[in-house]
Amino acid sequence: MTVDPQHPDPEVIARAAGILRAGGLVAFPTETVYGLGADGLNPLALARLFEAKGRPATDPVILHIADLEALPQLAREVPPSAWTLARRFWPGPLTLVLPKQAIVPDLVTAGLPTVAIRMPAHPVALALIRAAGTPIAAPSANRFGHTSPTTAQHVLEDLGGRIELILDAGPTPIGVESTVIDLTRPIPTILRPGGLPREALEAAVGPVAVFDRSVAGPAPAPGLLPKHYAPRAEMVVLIGPGEWLRSRLRELALRYLQESYRVGVLIAEEDRPAVEDLPVEIAALGSEKDLEGIARRLYPAMRELDGRGLDLILARDFGTQGLGLAIRDRLIRAAGGRVIKEDEPL
Ligand code: AMP
Ligand code: MG
Repeated sequence: MTVDPQHPDPEVIARAAGILRAGGLVAFPTETVYGLGADGLNPLALARLFEAKGRPATDPVILHIADLEALPQLAREVPPSAWTLARRFWPGPLTLVLPKQAIVPDLVTAGLPTVAIRMPAHPVALALIRAAGTPIAAPSANRFGHTSPTTAQHVLEDLGGRIELILDAGPTPIGVESTVIDLTRPIPTILRPGGLPREALEAAVGPVAVFDRSVAGPAPAPGLLPKHYAPRAEMVVLIGPGEWLRSRLRELALRYLQESYRVGVLIAEEDRPAVEDLPVEIAALGSEKDLEGIARRLYPAMRELDGRGLDLILARDFGTQGLGLAIRDRLIRAAGGRVIKEDEPL
């Protein structure tokens, strides 16, 4: 059902909320990506949610709330840093990990003693959560391991026939998932970089650690799998300065074209001259200086390239400033960790 992103029709919201209260599944827009919602306090609804996504029960989900009062109802301890971040950045693309209250079902937290909570900045999401009158568990509305959906059409492609309703409010404004920060550690630690940059968090609460998911080792939480958001084609990420990136991009494209690979490139507008004379599929995400635009176009471009039956996608990195960190994380995970850095032999 189509809804206005700014002023959703109360009747449509009431109908969606009724489905959620009855234990059903509703996909809805947030400012990050489309979420697949279920009543976060109803174990049967949660079981259906995992089933519809094909998501393993070891991967915890985020509870979405619409009012600050819900925070202490779900989190047993709310330290001052959590209140500071919530007041400053909610509603917004920030998820807080805190000790859980007993009412939070184990399915939500994958049996962990902590719960992840967020207040999304989207009028449709907020209206839906309020109308449902319960926290809404909402992972991204895609089949597990697929690229996250930024349009209702993407949701339909992945979950059509498996869920009761999709609320279509057009493309999501941010395009990558929320930043997940763990506040139960001695230093606040970013478990997943996302739509709220690290710099903004540090300005609010001081030093913040980043869990490096690109190094081998145990995941900080179940669900932080190294391979995720994955296209079908093999993907490789190039990390290095602009001139190096462009010459290596061209060199690699040529090499694989010679071996009859069908090659796609995920690049910035500035990189186009390096490859535009080659028979490669080009997905240009916009200017390398516009990280917001790059983040917004990343998932749709990955889906688009993936639909063209390619063997190999060469993607370039966008650094670690601002949204660059989240973009790098998603690229590396989509590539299953395959990275080429400057000074490394081919
Ligand atoms: P998604 O709902 O697909 O955006 O993914 C939610 C992610 O949030 C999970 O994959 C975890 O990485 C993270 N998460 C959720 N709950 C917790 C938790 N209790 N502790 C740590 N990370 C969590
Ligand atoms: Mg997801």
